[in-house]
Amino acid sequence: MSDLTALFDPDAIIKLEGIDELDRMRAVPNPFWNRARLEVTWGLPVMSGLVESPRIAVQPMRKATREELLLYHDPAYIETLELFGNTGTAFSARFGLDTDECPIFPGVDQYASYIVGATIDAMMSVADGKFEDAVSFFGGQHHATESQASGFCYYNDCVVAIKKYQEKYPGKKVLYLDTDAHHGDGTQSAFYDDPNVLTISIHELSMGFYPGTGRPEEIGIGDGKGYSVNIPLPPLTDDVEWWRAFEDLVVPIWLAYEPDFVFWEVGADAYMNDPLTDLMLTYDTYQRLSKTVRQLVHLGTRKLVMVGGGGYNSVAAAKIWTILLADIADIALPPTIPADWIRLCHKHGFQVKRGGWTSRPYRLPYDQYPKINRAVNESIRKVKELIFPTFGLDDLI
Ligand SMILES: [Zn+2]
Repeated sequence: MSDLTALFDPDAIIKLEGIDELDRMRAVPNPFWNRARLEVTWGLPVMSGLVESPRIAVQPMRKATREELLLYHDPAYIETLELFGNTGTAFSARFGLDTDECPIFPGVDQYASYIVGATIDAMMSVADGKFEDAVSFFGGQHHATESQASGFCYYNDCVVAIKKYQEKYPGKKVLYLDTDAHHGDGTQSAFYDDPNVLTISIHELSMGFYPGTGRPEEIGIGDGKGYSVNIPLPPLTDDVEWWRAFEDLVVPIWLAYEPDFVFWEVGADAYMNDPLTDLMLTYDTYQRLSKTVRQLVHLGTRKLVMVGGGGYNSVAAAKIWTILLADIADIALPPTIPADWIRLCHKHGFQVKRGGWTSRPYRLPYDQYPKINRAVNESIRKVKELIFPTFGLDDLI
């Protein structure tokens, strides 16, 4: 078995031209699908020298096959995306397509398919022992369901990859950990009755916040009851409060479940300056999270895939994913952010300060603290009450 980290090179999607058309069509760039985000997020691991490290095995992205997409997606949806992805059709709206969040643009089906192909290869190569672990920055389309595009997501690569894994390794247990600021609703719904996929989502939940689901009471159904875990947090949740929820809930559930495979949808959008969310994490918490995830993975079967997920402050997303990649692959980052990358950010109109990889500590304003603290306590209490008995953790309630 190789001890290398597979890293999926997005060259194939960066070369597709449809994104440029989408950029031209819109006065304001689509928050997910825009060229600046693709180039800036991928530019940082390249310019930091990570991609050339002997610890990393760079892999091309490939398109998912029809057969693979059908492991989860509705054939009518796949055909609509393939045939009318460029132009739209009267049926587009029925599948959640041709909206502000999931626009149609030339080659959209190919973009979506490459993302799925890479995530499948990431998961299967780790499962088969070809690589120690695997990272795909552009995976994590966790809002898509079998016949609906939603929240910038077309095909749900997480679900398709896990289903492919289940096909080859029936009966094995997957932990799907979703630390994206948004609820992992699409993935949760795909495995809602399946105890062999434990979904844990820790996310913001507030009035009007997308997608509006992810309450602790959503615990799964049938045999899957107790295997959907939802940890909602209020806006302005900071490092300390977020970490308390993670440590009190995720760690004991994880240890009790003993997964055979860990699929981690990171989401860089819980970062404090993300334009679409209100959580207040700093780079330091992502760093700490990565170390904890790896410790937990190493206590078990050592099989980990990480996909990037959301992140709409492109500079922050680039830094977070690069920090995590360096940690997972055991590579030292250069002491300061590379000057070439700062120039690339400036070219795309992003302001970046020179400096290192950490952020200034942030703590909640004093007057907000009791309210946030109470809401986090309430989430912790509810999740313990609803979920811990499934895992024999009654004495920790
Ligand atoms: Zn998100």
